[in-house]
Amino acid sequence: FFSGTGKKVLIVYAHQEPKSFNGSLKNLADEVLSKQGCSVTISDLYAMDFKPAATRSDIIGELYNPDHFNYRVECFEAYKKGRLAKDVLEEQKKVLDANLVIFQFPVYWFSMPAIMKGWIDRVFIQGFSYGIPGFYDEGFLKDKKALLSLTTGGDEGMYLPTGANGDIKYLLWSMQHGMMHFCGFQVLAPNVCYGMDNVTEEKRKEMLDAWAHRLQKIWEEKPINCQPSGYF
Ligand SMILES: Cc1cc2nc3c(=O)[nH]c(=O)nc-3n(C[C@H](O)[C@H](O)[C@H](O)COP(=O)(O)OP(=O)(O)OC[C@H]3O[C@@H](n4cnc5c(N)ncnc54)[C@H](O)[C@@H]3O)c2cc1C
Repeated sequence: FFSGTGKKVLIVYAHQEPKSFNGSLKNLADEVLSKQGCSVTISDLYAMDFKPAATRSDIIGELYNPDHFNYRVECFEAYKKGRLAKDVLEEQKKVLDANLVIFQFPVYWFSMPAIMKGWIDRVFIQGFSYGIPGFYDEGFLKDKKALLSLTTGGDEGMYLPTGANGDIKYLLWSMQHGMMHFCGFQVLAPNVCYGMDNVTEEKRKEMLDAWAHRLQKIWEEKPINCQPSGYF
């Protein structure tokens, strides 16, 4: 029984080291989902040397308003005319093709690494992933699912409501609601691997097993409540 037959998954992956734990989580997802019959595409951002900065060079040809550069407006206009940079168009095509997008990354400063944030800045532009109106539940990617799979240096206790870092929900909120849900994505529960900098080998194996186990039934999962009222 191939539960993922016909499903397409994009893994947006940000780690420099293939032997890292993030690399292992990414490889495992690729393996488990492929075995289910899914077709898996990976955007390995560091290997691609993905350009994270939102700059004028993202617009090909004449600017809409050369006197006052506004990145949001310029991208919106360029998108409508098919004049966005090739690397952005390629990533947008991968997103459009996908039923599920998994973001695999180590937490950097309570957020995602800059290269992944840059991917969001440049790929999820107005007209493509959202409109005004056309965001949150009406976001243009509302038929798709998104899942954040992240590792932390801090251990689980530090991310409890009473811990030094505060509830992990706060760290996740800007990404799950402000980025994913804003674009319409149905947000699946995150996969959080805590305390990577000092966890035992045995515990690491358990985390990998749990991830593999979860992915077996990923297509049965219901999205989390990502409304401000329901989330907190
Ligand atoms: C700029 C920056 C900012 C940061 N900010 C934060 C922050 O705000 N909050 C926070 O909590 N942390 C923060 N950190 C820490 C960071 O999140 C962790 O270092 C990171 O999550 C560790 O993940 P990794 O994949 O790099 O681990 P790795 O060091 O690559 O892996 C951990 C261990 O797992 C082993 N491993 C790999 N694959 C397997 C496998 N298949 N089976 C068993 N073992 C395996 C590796 O060999 C290694 O021993 C920050 C780090 C940086 C660089």
